[in-house]
Amino acid sequence: MVEAVSSSTRNRGSSRSSSANTGHNDYGRKKCEALAGNSNLNGEDELQMAIGSDKNATKQSCKVAVIGAGAAGLVAARELQREGHEVVVYEEGEKVGGVWLYNSDVEDDPLGLDPNRCSVHSSMYASLRTNLPRELMGYLDYPFLPREGRDVRRFPRHEEVASYLQDFAEEFNLLLLVKFCTKVEYVGIYRGDGNTEADIVNDSSFKQQLLREGCEDLREDSANLETRWVVRTRERRQAVEKERDVLNFATGCEDQVTDVIFDAVVICNGHYSQPRVAWIPGLEKWPGKQMHSHNYRIAEPFRDKVVVVIGNGPSGIDISLELISVAKEVHFCAKKWDLSKDLFWPLHEGKLQCHLLVELVTEDGTVHFQDGISCHVDVILHCTGYLYSFPFLDTHGIVTVENSAVGPLFEHVFPPLLAPSLSFVGLPFKMFRVSRFV
Ligand SMILES: Cc1cc2nc3c(=O)[nH]c(=O)nc-3n(C[C@H](O)[C@H](O)[C@H](O)COP(=O)(O)OP(=O)(O)OC[C@H]3O[C@@H](n4cnc5c(N)ncnc54)[C@H](O)[C@@H]3O)c2cc1C
Repeated sequence: MVEAVSSSTRNRGSSRSSSANTGHNDYGRKKCEALAGNSNLNGEDELQMAIGSDKNATKQSCKVAVIGAGAAGLVAARELQREGHEVVVYEEGEKVGGVWLYNSDVEDDPLGLDPNRCSVHSSMYASLRTNLPRELMGYLDYPFLPREGRDVRRFPRHEEVASYLQDFAEEFNLLLLVKFCTKVEYVGIYRGDGNTEADIVNDSSFKQQLLREGCEDLREDSANLETRWVVRTRERRQAVEKERDVLNFATGCEDQVTDVIFDAVVICNGHYSQPRVAWIPGLEKWPGKQMHSHNYRIAEPFRDKVVVVIGNGPSGIDISLELISVAKEVHFCAKKWDLSKDLFWPLHEGKLQCHLLVELVTEDGTVHFQDGISCHVDVILHCTGYLYSFPFLDTHGIVTVENSAVGPLFEHVFPPLLAPSLSFVGLPFKMFRVSRFV
């Protein structure tokens, strides 16, 4: 879960006025020194430079869109509002909480490969409990404390985390900022006067200009180029009317598509919804069933089946252990095993077998493992993680997703050429709360 973000998007407007004071050559020199690692700048100075702002300048209120009302979006919205910005949070779902809102529905494509599938955001399975103690999961200034009448365990169930996030949103009056049932379909660079759709930048000249002039003097560039963003949303009217308990056949229930111009966009859309699937030779002709853990909810559908679980991350371990109570056999495979950690498996020997990865599968339903063992299998369950996905984002190639990395980004948050008007919160898969160790 994410920590509270600092007020890193403040002073956006002020960077313009301050460039005259500092002088962009000086700025360029400092930035080069900072990047070369031999400067005397402190961390805050580096951050200010990377996002093109000046801590001494006057604050200016900006209109900011936050995409997603999960753990990251909620805290981003709170911090932005505290800094005096006008915030709108767009949330596709009907509640805050993001991935923690358990949904018994699954997607119509069990592997999650079809981009046009009917998507479900949450990847929670019914039995899931946190794999971190609650003390480590809360926001720094709003601890995740046990509450009477609720799940008070240190490793509570998913509903408890969803309730905590709802509490957080209520405590800081964030619900008023959220437009529910509203999906962001497009985010693009905008450089017009706010009136016509033609102002949306549709050619690569903007990117070229940024790249040509970018490195020497980023702050001057962003000052001149006035990067703003058009955000196109689709509001599901039917869902909204249903929420309000109105008979919607009278009011009509067509989706409403809207374009709004923002000074800045903070992307908090989560990264546990787009499955990453293992590639295995022979799969196209293998007759069994395949699915990704994103679409796993309960063990019952696997009763008396022979199941291969790929991947020994937290989901793979949880699901394998759950499956042994109903499945005929569970073959748990992974790239490598850490025998000091993976001690649970001998306890279930017989029903649960651990292997190295799958080498190939064949038309007769057989799965061949790299350790030389083969067996006939009914289901392959990919517990192989997730991919970053920003299907709505158009930066003309300035921000890219390659080899499961989003970049270029300063501190995993700001793309230097588009900072501070574009940022990402909550990208790292693994996070430590450093304050615990100092
Ligand atoms: C199975 C599983 C178990 C986990 N267990 C733990 C754990 O024990 N401890 C822990 O700390 N972390 C755990 N995590 C990680 C968890 O994802 C983070 O804790 C955190 O909740 C992520 O928050 P987020 O706001 O970044 O993303 P999400 O919670 O995914 O929120 C993103 C929000 O954006 C919305 N959205 C997405 N696209 C759009 C769009 N185009 N328009 C509008 N809205 C959009 C979604 O509807 C969603 O509400 C687990 C994750 C999974 C999948």
